[in-house]
Amino acid sequence: MAQIESKNRATSEPQARKGVLEQVAERGIEDVLLWFTDLEGHLKSFSITTRELESALDDGMGFDGSSVTGFNAIEESDMVAIPDPTSYRVLPDGKTGRMICDIVTPDGQPYEGDPRHVLRRALERMTSMGFDTFNVGPEAEYFLFRDEKGTETLDEGGYFAQTTMDAATDVRRDTIRALESMGIPVEYHHHEVGPSQHEIDIRYANALDMGDYMLTYRLVVKEVAKQHGYHATFMPKPLFGENGSGMHTHQSLFTDGRNRFFDGDDRWHLSGEGKAFIAGQLRHAREIAAVFAQWVNSYKRLVPGYEAPVYVAWSQRNRSALIRIPLYKPGSEQATRAEIRCPDPACNPYLLFACLLHAGLEGIEQGYELPDPMETNLYHLTAEQRRERGIVSLPETLGEAIDALAQSELARKALGPHIFDRYIELKRKEWDEYRVQLTDWEMKKYLAVL
Ligand code: GLU
Ligand code: MG
Repeated sequence: MAQIESKNRATSEPQARKGVLEQVAERGIEDVLLWFTDLEGHLKSFSITTRELESALDDGMGFDGSSVTGFNAIEESDMVAIPDPTSYRVLPDGKTGRMICDIVTPDGQPYEGDPRHVLRRALERMTSMGFDTFNVGPEAEYFLFRDEKGTETLDEGGYFAQTTMDAATDVRRDTIRALESMGIPVEYHHHEVGPSQHEIDIRYANALDMGDYMLTYRLVVKEVAKQHGYHATFMPKPLFGENGSGMHTHQSLFTDGRNRFFDGDDRWHLSGEGKAFIAGQLRHAREIAAVFAQWVNSYKRLVPGYEAPVYVAWSQRNRSALIRIPLYKPGSEQATRAEIRCPDPACNPYLLFACLLHAGLEGIEQGYELPDPMETNLYHLTAEQRRERGIVSLPETLGEAIDALAQSELARKALGPHIFDRYIELKRKEWDEYRVQLTDWEMKKYLAVL
């Protein structure tokens, strides 16, 4: 297992800064893109010439934050993007560099509306509790469609289908090459259950790097699809009656290279901390649903029957559970981890990892008790049976999720009051816009008979 490095570092590391300047000069890089995200995780990018690089690394680049979703209003809109030199990569075109930015205010303070800062704060809480690394491994699924106007699929393949005759295999291969060329290691990839649905799993990394990787991943998947004339989408549920796209996220906490979730003497090979961490995520799952499933459409995925979780429970084998502990194999102490299955790939990865971490740490700090695992197929339990077992459901709609978020002390702490208020406002607006729509379903169901 590779040495786990701790990355809760300050923004400008002199060594990394020097490395960027050298690489840019040696490789004849023409432009450098500076990336960050808005609250919803949309990638924001602007380009600087290499002449400006040094001053950008030292002082950042100013921009108007008022047009970025969820950022400050017009009257306090001056923001500065400070590129993180440790995130420097070259895009697959070989000519363009890119760095991920931290956002600060003009007086140099971290901007409380910056999602990457929210994750940094979560990592600080983790460090103060004696852990040094939060490792995450997301499995982000997506669909490839003929174009962005509709949902015409490219194949009828299924899980692990080897569609050699299909163009989609080439697209996936090129996507992986592009990711690897940017130093984003891919662990494995395969056709998913749905037609034209794919999954590429990036090798686990610390949460901050993985947040950066996910931005890159989503862009590369879309770009390569486009080069082949197709459209890739991370929309959680684009096809009625088929599996949606999830982003199951494997998680573990480390100190000095030691997996703190592992205990060889326990019946599930889980330490007390590992159990409390899982208990924290189960207890707070409803409250942070609006972050791991942030769109109206996300809740069309979280329904029974499509391998996506609906009920709040954990298990070792059962893929209908919210959290799964992959079975322990002798010698794989380092791989002991909790796989949370509710997030979807259209989330803001920084906010997601921050909320997951806070929920888990809360469990550890407060000593939450882990309930018994549920090994039965939870989709098959009746409401009565679920009640007896004390199993609650995830929110059924974005509206319900926002209500749960708005009442959550944990979410307020995790997001910080600034993002917390804006996020609720933003998502409520989306929900209000949706709930007044008249759908085809209603018209077909009611018009003739009512
Ligand atoms: N696509 C399923 C989901 O929405 C998951 C399928 C699987 O990888 O087990 O979570
Ligand atoms: Mg999958």
